[in-house]
Amino acid sequence: MTEALDGRVAIVTGASRGIGKSIALELASAGARVACFATRKANASDVVDAIVAQGGEALAIGCRVENSHEVTEAFEEVSDVLGPVDLLVNNAGVSNPMMTLEMTEENWDQHMNVNCKSVFLCSQAAARQMKGRRGGNIVNIGSILGRNAFPATLGYCASKAAVDHMTRVMAIEWARYGIRVNCIVPGYIRTELIDQLQRDGKLEIADLERRTPQRRLGSGSDIAKAVRFVASDDAGFMTGEAVVVDGGWSAFGYYQSK
Ligand code: NDP
Repeated sequence: MTEALDGRVAIVTGASRGIGKSIALELASAGARVACFATRKANASDVVDAIVAQGGEALAIGCRVENSHEVTEAFEEVSDVLGPVDLLVNNAGVSNPMMTLEMTEENWDQHMNVNCKSVFLCSQAAARQMKGRRGGNIVNIGSILGRNAFPATLGYCASKAAVDHMTRVMAIEWARYGIRVNCIVPGYIRTELIDQLQRDGKLEIADLERRTPQRRLGSGSDIAKAVRFVASDDAGFMTGEAVVVDGGWSAFGYYQSK
């Protein structure tokens, strides 16, 4: 049986852990050859080893995605080693909650640069390669916080709302080149990011579980499977769309105390 993404070259940013690691493993199991980006090459070596151990092909790349020079070099390296990119997943992101009255300019810049400017830089680099080949696929990772207001998350919410809308602009500009652009919008997913926020007293996992109709946080695999579908030819007529994967969080407007 041929796999859905057989032989395609995929780039996953923020692939060293959490959701990005799950996406890289899922795309590799669908037959893609995966370039795993992290801030430092060494951070992506575990996921590359795991893909190779599964019989797949992968490459670790150090690239701070908010830096245009590093993005240009990284995309050139992927093209030289694996070939031009067919699929880009813009997953790298940060979340550093801070109440707006105390928030610093640095906090704003960090969210906008890592979560949002990176999507522009990486998508442009990918689309320039895809345009000449008449096709490609870009999947952005947004957040329910791009649609719902939460306290102490001004920079994060703004950056993720921008990702949602950037998806639509890129989709309508690049449809003529055969490039599809979609956004996966996760609810709360149990990763190191969430565990660290709980350790810092910035959120309470039990409260999040209670607020979610399915009464659990999502897993990286829940998001990775949605990415795999959107990136496959089965979703060939789908572009400029956002798919919410949140266990019912966004649909639910009531407060439940138990
Ligand atoms: P993690 O903190 O677990 O992982 C973040 C990843 O991003 C790491 O691979 C990290 O690489 C990389 N990264 C961070 N900063 C940069 C940078 N400047 N340049 C390149 N790579 C960078 O996050 P999650 O897996 O939880 O989240 C992944 C994405 O999903 C993010 O965009 C997040 O906003 C989004 N999301 C997460 C939700 C959740 O509940 N977890 C909910 C909704 C959306 P390194 O190891 O090198 O630091």
